[in-house]
Amino acid sequence: MKPWDGLFSEQDLGALLGAVAFAAVKHQDQRRKGHRHLPYINHPVRVAEILWSVGGVRDMTTLVAALLHDTLEDTETTPAEIELRFGPEVLGVVQEVTDDKSLPKAVRKQHQVEHAACASPRAKIIKLVDKICNVSDLINEPPADWPKPRVVAYVDWSELVVAGLRGVNPRLEAMYDDVVRAAHTMLAASNV
Ligand code: ZN
Repeated sequence: MKPWDGLFSEQDLGALLGAVAFAAVKHQDQRRKGHRHLPYINHPVRVAEILWSVGGVRDMTTLVAALLHDTLEDTETTPAEIELRFGPEVLGVVQEVTDDKSLPKAVRKQHQVEHAACASPRAKIIKLVDKICNVSDLINEPPADWPKPRVVAYVDWSELVVAGLRGVNPRLEAMYDDVVRAAHTMLAASNV
């Protein structure tokens, strides 16, 4: 896809709507972990919308990849499907933000910390907004089966990952910092 020149092409808008529809079908039977168990699709839509509205991102490859960012990791979607529908560039970004589920969870989490700094700028800002959304969801909608130490550990780990994601989009970094500050304040105030 060509760089943004102030207008979106028919092809760009088709890809964006196609990605919303594709992700909605792929995540249709999934719910978020929070206590209200909101539809999973709310999450990738929010990630893409924050990139657009807060980050000022107009790069269609990033926005489409954001909508698809959890399809490889959390659904039966194959890389070939994404490549066929959205092209190799989008697939490459989605693969960059996908954990290798064959590895144990602790290894995957350490991998995210160690590899964040090597990610492409597109992958970095998608990962950053993913952490913004996950931390804010954990604080506003804590999963019923997550004791407070687990929430604290997630927030602390996210800060280690985000340290490697900085330097691309200051507005998104400031949003993350605000969300984490609020999270620490709420966690310190709660006795749960
Ligand atoms: Zn996500």
